[in-house]
Amino acid sequence: MTSDISTLANWIHTSPSTVFFGGAGVSTESGIPDFRGANGFYFQERTIPLEQVLSIDFFSVHPEAYWEWFREVHKPVEPNGAHRALAALESDGLLDCVITQNIDGLHQRAGSNQVWELHGNWEHLLCTACGAGYPLSAIPEAFEELVPTCPRCHGQLRPDIVMYGEALNEEVISGAVQAIAQADLLIVAGTSLVVYPAAGLLNYFSGSHLVLMNATPTNADADADADLIIRDPVAQSFEAVMKELS
Ligand code: ZN
Repeated sequence: MTSDISTLANWIHTSPSTVFFGGAGVSTESGIPDFRGANGFYFQERTIPLEQVLSIDFFSVHPEAYWEWFREVHKPVEPNGAHRALAALESDGLLDCVITQNIDGLHQRAGSNQVWELHGNWEHLLCTACGAGYPLSAIPEAFEELVPTCPRCHGQLRPDIVMYGEALNEEVISGAVQAIAQADLLIVAGTSLVVYPAAGLLNYFSGSHLVLMNATPTNADADADADLIIRDPVAQSFEAVMKELS
């Protein structure tokens, strides 16, 4: 453990370009559950698979179910040691950017500026009618009404996150691809890398060191390609790395 952390700290210190790519495991230590692990959502006296509740087809018929789910899982949470360490590394010039599959906005809350959010950010809402955007904090109705509406046109609002059945934002994808292609050190954490587009993104990496931080083995190709694998919790590992770097 100690020597792995020293190795990682040394690579971060000496690498000309470092990129962090994270998944659900980065936020679980902040108390946000891995939604993919959930059984489903109870709605109208039956349990509906979460993939269905969070799909664009279902939303267009039952937006109220989507918002019920949102209010159930959106709790006040704080960034953890991993978010804080990554923000500090960026401000020290030791990290190019964060690419995340998470929708919680915790990297920005911790102070990161360069963040590519592959699946959007639920702290931001969009009007499905006129396209206006609002910070969640500006729409208290989101926590009160079945389906909150746009202050401008009264259209239905939705969280600005990518639903199942929707394409990812092309600008975000190309930004993430470019960052990974230019990286010399790539740290992949808290993701099993089996879900699109995570596994595919790694194919663009041609730098010196690939580091995986995940409690369990990831998809077999990535584990085989990794130069270093750390199984400890992500926040704990980053706190140890920061100690090593200070
Ligand atoms: Zn509107």
